[in-house]
Amino acid sequence: MDVGHYAAEPGVISASGMPEFAFNLALALDVKTELEKLQFNVRLIGERGDYAVLHHRTRDAQGADLFVSIHHDSVQERLLPQAERFAGFSLFISRQNPKVEKSLACASAIGARLRGEGFTPSRYHADPVLGEARPFADEANGVHYYDNLAVARSAAMASVLVEAGVIVNREEDRRMRDPAVRRRIAAAVAGGVGECLAKEP
Ligand SMILES: [Zn+2]
Repeated sequence: MDVGHYAAEPGVISASGMPEFAFNLALALDVKTELEKLQFNVRLIGERGDYAVLHHRTRDAQGADLFVSIHHDSVQERLLPQAERFAGFSLFISRQNPKVEKSLACASAIGARLRGEGFTPSRYHADPVLGEARPFADEANGVHYYDNLAVARSAAMASVLVEAGVIVNREEDRRMRDPAVRRRIAAAVAGGVGECLAKEP
C-alpha cells in the first residue's frame, strides 16, 4: 500500500488548501485497516513522507502480491477555474507491468466495488482535450491504461494506481475529507483487492 507523494513534494493542493499527501495517507491507513480485517498482511510504503525516488517504492514492495498506490486527483492547470466540472475516481494500470491481466482484474474489481458504493468514474482522463487521452482498459469501472506510469512499470508484481477523487473540486474536496466517506472508499478498495487476490490459483 503506497502513499502517493512525499513531504517535500506533497502533490496537488486541494480546493481548501490541504496537500494531497495528507489525503493519501489518511485513505491508505483506512485501506490498511480494512485489508487487515480481511486477514491480509499490508506493508505501508511512503507513510513517513520520505520516498522521493519512485522506483524505491516498488523495490521495497518486493514479495508483495499486489502494489496499490493511493492518490487524489487534479485537472489540467488551464481547467482549474472549471474544476467543479470534474469529479469521481479513476484507476490506472500499465501494459508495461509484467502482470497486466492481474493488474486489470484488480483494478476492475476495485472500480466495481466503488461503483457499488455509489461512487462514479471521473472518465475525463480518457478525453484528449479534458484529460490526457488515456484509453479505457475497463470503461464501466473507470480503469485506464497509463503505460508509462512509474509505479506500475517498475513493479515486479501486479500494480494499480487509485485516484480516489478530484480534490481541486471544492465539493469533492469536502467529501474526501469526510471520515465516513473515506471509510466507504477504503472498504471498497479493500473489498476489490480481496476479491481479485482470492481468485489467484
Ligand atoms: Zn498524486
